[in-house]
Parts: sequence; C-alpha cells; structure tokens
Amino acid sequence: MSEIQNVMVFGAGISGKGAAMELAEQGKTVFLYDDTPKKPETELEEMLTRYGGGFASGNIAEVLDKVQQVILSPAVPGNLPVLQKARENGVEVIGEIELAWRNYAGHMVAITGTNGKTTTTTLVGEMLKTLPVKTAVGGNIGLALSREVKGLDKNSWVAAEVSSYQLEGVKDFCPDVAAILNLTPDHMERHKTMEEYARCKRNIFVNQKAKQITILNYDDPEVRTWGKYSKGTLCYFSRKAVLPEGVYMKDGSFFIKWKNSVKEICHKDELQIFGAHNEENVLAAIACGFFAGVTPEKMRETLLGFKGVEHRIEYVKTINGVPYYNDSKATNTDSVIKALEAFPGGHIILLAGGHDKMTPLEPMMNLVKEKTDLLILLGEARERFYQAARLAGVENIIVADTFKDAVDAAYAHARAPQIVLLSPACSSFDMFHDMGERGRYFKKLVHELGK
Ligand code: ADP
Repeated sequence: MSEIQNVMVFGAGISGKGAAMELAEQGKTVFLYDDTPKKPETELEEMLTRYGGGFASGNIAEVLDKVQQVILSPAVPGNLPVLQKARENGVEVIGEIELAWRNYAGHMVAITGTNGKTTTTTLVGEMLKTLPVKTAVGGNIGLALSREVKGLDKNSWVAAEVSSYQLEGVKDFCPDVAAILNLTPDHMERHKTMEEYARCKRNIFVNQKAKQITILNYDDPEVRTWGKYSKGTLCYFSRKAVLPEGVYMKDGSFFIKWKNSVKEICHKDELQIFGAHNEENVLAAIACGFFAGVTPEKMRETLLGFKGVEHRIEYVKTINGVPYYNDSKATNTDSVIKALEAFPGGHIILLAGGHDKMTPLEPMMNLVKEKTDLLILLGEARERFYQAARLAGVENIIVADTFKDAVDAAYAHARAPQIVLLSPACSSFDMFHDMGERGRYFKKLVHELGK
C-alpha cells in the first residue's frame, strides 16, 4: 500500500486524532474529518497542514474524492452508504486498530469482551512490563493504539484493549494472543443483532493460526462454544471447573496447567481486587501473561501489587470504620449487580442514580433489597429508581437533591460494619462531563468528610 498518500481519518476522537498524527508524521496528507467541526488543536493542526491536509467537516464526498484510504474511528460504522460508495471507487477503508497492526512488527495480546476489558488489559500491561523488552498498552482503554505502538520493535509486547466497534472491519489484525472475556447484550444500536455483535468479537481471532493463542471464558455459555470458530491454539479459563488444561481456580487459588506442568500463581485472598468478576479478569490475565512469556513468579508479584483500575469498585477511604468505594464506572445495572455481589457480607449503603438509560431495573432492585441497608438516590433518574426500588420492596430510601447531599446522607447514616458504595447504574451526563469526573468528585467529597 505504499502508493497511498492521501488519507481521510473519519472521526476526531482519541483514536482518530492519534491516527491522524501518526500518518502525518509519516508524511501523508491527512484530512481529519468529523461531522461536528472540532476546536482546532495547534500541534495536530500544524502537522496536518504542513503536508497539505487539515481538519475537515461538512461535505464528506468532497474529502473522499481526494483520498486513497479511510481510517475509521471506532464510533463510525463501516457500512455507511458514503463509505460503500468510496469502496466502489477503489478507496480502502480500514479501522484504526488495523492501521496500528500494519505499522507494528512486534507481539500483541488483544483483549475483548462486554465487561472487564480495561481491568484485564491494565493487568496484562503490568505483567508485560516485567519482560525484558519494550511494552505498551493501548486501544479502547483511551490511548490510540496506532500511536502507542510507535517506537516499539519486533521483540516488543503490547496489551491492546479492543471493542466490538474496533473489531467490526478487521482485515489482517492477528494478535499473538487473543482473549474473549464474556458476552452479554450491549451496543445493539450499532450491531443490530447479537449474532453480529458476536461476529465482531470473534474477529479478534479470525486471522489466527495454530501458533497463535485463543483464550476463552469456559464459564460463559456462549463464549465457551466459540472454540470451533478459531484456528488458533485454544486455552480456556474457568472459576468454576478444574480444567484438564488451561487456567482455573481451585480452593480459592489460581492455577495454570499447560502441557502437563501445573503452576499455582496466588490465592484470591492475597489480591487487592475482589469479586467474582475480577477473579475472571485475573484468570484471563494469567492466561495472557503466560503465553506472552511472563514467569509465574512475576505474574504473582504483579497480581499482588495490583490495586485495580480507577472508578471500578475503587477503595477510597475508611471513616469511622466504614470503607467508601467509588464505582463510578458502573454505568449500567449489570455492573451494579456485579458490585453488590462483590460484597458478600451485604450491609451496603448504595448511592445510585444519574442520567437515566431507561433500562429495566427489576433484577438490580431485587438485589438492592437483599444487599443494602440504605439506598440513596440522586440525579435525573432518582424518581424512576425510587418507584422501582419501592416496587421491589426496598424500604430505606433517601432521595437527595444534590450529589453532595447524597454523600453527606451516607456519612450521617453509616456505621460499621456497613460500607458505602457509589455505583450509579447511570451515565453521568446529567451532572458531569464523564464518569471519571463523577468518580473524582465523589472521592474529593469523601476525603473532606468529617473534617
Ligand atoms: P470494560 O473496559 O469492558 O468496560 P472494566 O474493566 O472497565 O470493563 O469494568 C467495568 C465494569 O464492568 C466493572 O466496574 C464491573 O462492574 C464490570 N466487570 C468487570 N469485569 C467484569 C467481568 N469479568 N464480568 C462481568 N462484569 C465485569
């Protein structure tokens, strides 16, 4: 593809900007197109204009007429009519991770799944750092993969978090190790059917051969059956079954058994992260680390030191014997269920609410009734959540006017052995820029409590 000189990058988000910068540094003429004009960023804009490109918005057909290749940001579906037409005119359309793949000569672990991607990828990234080679982390985690692979070499290892959107149009992408964590309904507005969503996820291993590794969750009834689609070497992981080969848990310890050698990595009580969902993430990470050549000792060290990822059941502080946890990342009811289940002792004071996604609340509220001593509702969703909680038989409910009122109410009521958990089941857009800002605000308020 050396004849490609003019490229359109479609979508000016993190991946798009990264790809545009990368291509411009390679001396290409890059048009960074977005439906909504973006505020110019000096450094990037200077780079783009230096080679005859720039930011573009408005008439997309005009831009497409000028280019030989289109790089898609994850948010842009590959089947838009305007892209179909471009393909007919001989324009190559690829995703941003495909661009990264083509520019990278080293090794890669890629991780996908409906939930747990960031946690597992972060963990694998930490394990990879123990190898005596250059390493990086990138992808859906918030770092453009096409940028992060820069400066690496053929011995390097990269941990890539990849979403179904990014996997939609895979061509040559073929990671050495590909892991699929789980599959539950999500993103139907884009993929339309579960089958299409599943197909995108399976693209993570679609190009693999026997020398590459496909890691699958044995406990996920759907993902378990996908071995038949992969030509890679299969490795399963399970919390529930002691597998004849693979990564599994036995009496609370994590084991890897491969080619008749068994290694114990660590016990779950030695970890700083907890919950069944995190045990699955740890199993997957062990499998990934193992096939990247990380030693069991280094995996153990990494696991024991791993504090989890910010905003995912993140421990904040203990006040008057009551620990406070920030789970701002729980933007849907499934995540809240996972969080509530992660505290087997119950006695939870739950802060929930935010921008309402209007999804069914019954399963979550049934668990709220079982696990919580007090439910504090906030944000736009609070009225609907209140009705649903009452219907499920939740008795202790406070409806707070502001976010700060909600935290103050938690503090006023909390007594050991209770725990306070922010796990909103909502997006944050009613009050915050994103879930990160919400989580940081929560932590700030908690740190100010009792002063
Ligand atoms: P992702 O990057 O796929 O969104 P994260 O690692 O950021 O996943 O975790 C987001 C939320 O998803 C967590 O707060 C937790 O509630 C839930 N979660 C994490 N890992 C798993 C898992 N293995 N299975 C199910 N749910 C999970």
